[in-house]
Amino acid sequence: MGIKVTKFGGSSLANAEQFKKVISILKADADRRYAVPSAPGKRFSGDDKITDLLYKCHDIATAGKSIEQVFDKIRSRYMHIAQELGLDYSPEEELERICRNIQKGEKRDYVASRGEYLNGIILAQALGWDFIDAADVIFFDENGIFDAEGTNSAVAKCLSEHPYAVIPGFYGRRADGSVKTFSRGGSDITGSIVARAGGAELYENWTDVSGFMVADPRIVVNPAVIRTVSYRELRELSYMGATVLHEDAIFPVSHCGIPINIKNTNHPEDAGTMIVSDKSRDIREGLVTGIAGRKDFTVITLEKDMMNTERGFGRKVLTVFEEYGVSFEHMPTGIDTMSVVASDKELYGKKEEILNALKKSVHPDSVVAEDNLAIIAVVGRGMVRAVGTAGRVFSALSREKINVRMIDQGSSELNIIVGVDNEKFEAAISAIYNEFFN
Ligand code: ASP
Repeated sequence: MGIKVTKFGGSSLANAEQFKKVISILKADADRRYAVPSAPGKRFSGDDKITDLLYKCHDIATAGKSIEQVFDKIRSRYMHIAQELGLDYSPEEELERICRNIQKGEKRDYVASRGEYLNGIILAQALGWDFIDAADVIFFDENGIFDAEGTNSAVAKCLSEHPYAVIPGFYGRRADGSVKTFSRGGSDITGSIVARAGGAELYENWTDVSGFMVADPRIVVNPAVIRTVSYRELRELSYMGATVLHEDAIFPVSHCGIPINIKNTNHPEDAGTMIVSDKSRDIREGLVTGIAGRKDFTVITLEKDMMNTERGFGRKVLTVFEEYGVSFEHMPTGIDTMSVVASDKELYGKKEEILNALKKSVHPDSVVAEDNLAIIAVVGRGMVRAVGTAGRVFSALSREKINVRMIDQGSSELNIIVGVDNEKFEAAISAIYNEFFN
């Protein structure tokens, strides 16, 4: 059979009880040969994540104070896990070394990475598997840019020498030998790198939910779970705010079409969500796959008679945004109108200057900025072939008396984007959800 690479998130390894679930998942299938752990996460709401405590220790040490009190919390979490698992191994020595290094002024990334490092050693001990230090096989260049190809060869070679191994997530090393981490949640990326290098048939990403929800559960009560989603759909949904998987985790596996299965450590029997190649035959033609959105955007609309005959109009408009360092999200156009949608965060402190610069550059009849806009993306690979999807989205919104301020259909026909007032955001998502899923 093929190889399965597994990644376990922080809540899956938050204490010894969770570790035991992980161990039994790994032992239940001999194809699960490589495990990528995160650092211990929260055991209950309000609890500390080990990574956050490590960042705190670094800040305290940088301020020249003693980390002992905060490090104690870290020490006791790991010591408990090792004891309750009944290991012969004790992480005590490693912990003391790390504590000394932090106090001596080790760099921030090294400090943050120790959560995964220690969890990797403990998990390897508990399983009787080999431990591969990610710093030996995952590389970044001198500018901190991830070296995908160098890493791929090094990981592939290393895996061929270790039939069963644990590789901690989240970090690697720079050309100068120092530790470098990915951005927060980056263990998902490590899992994807290992899956690619190992030629895995499946990348299992174990977390505390049974997959991606069609819509945010804080807005829609008990939303359906997405069974199958393509890499591209997922990219759209993650970009628009759906979280579960780090958005950069798709790239290593999508190159070679390895599917990702989001699974729940607390309910391993649940099928979870399969993330597959856009070309995969497994992909059933669903209509709407997911609904996601974000608040706080502004639309800047320019009007000018005969705009459509004026060559270079669009370029000049976008040049203004570029010069002010603002990246835009959407650009719906009409014959004599053009709108540019950007987040309030991007426009912060620059809006008035941009409006003035636009007036100078393209001499519009009018230019106005309207804020308080929320953007919702209705994503579905089946929409290309289906008639009437947009109609259903707009009917659902009009039934709830929600005014649509902006419409944009992604050029891939993978999504329909609608803009509504911030205050109507939740109601709009619920209305669209009910139209397609209830
Ligand atoms: N432990 C790191 C974080 O909290 C990385 C991860 O969990 O993937 O962001």
